[in-house]
Amino acid sequence: MYARDRNTPGYVCPGTSDKPCGQPIDWTLPYRDPDTGLVNTDSKSVDHVIETQDGGPLTDIDNLASVHLGCNSSKGAGRRHEREREQQPTPSTVVITIDPHSV
Ligand SMILES: [Zn+2]
Repeated sequence: MYARDRNTPGYVCPGTSDKPCGQPIDWTLPYRDPDTGLVNTDSKSVDHVIETQDGGPLTDIDNLASVHLGCNSSKGAGRRHEREREQQPTPSTVVITIDPHSV
């Protein structure tokens, strides 16, 4: 996965449709900084070009792209907020009719 993109001359992080990146990826950066223990948002990660929740294949290499962890996380966060908005209950009126004979 990373090897394919690392070996592609001029490969840059595509970022997201909301926030294009275009910066090269430092393939040697670890996920966590060994000195500080903090997550390195410039490290590499795998992004699903078409999100699996939108029907994108989970393991098809053509649906995977190397992106900065930070770019991937911001996309995920955006999607989560989008989903949360979609999942907000819409106000509605519910009419319940109770048959007095059934109580
Ligand atoms: Zn990026």
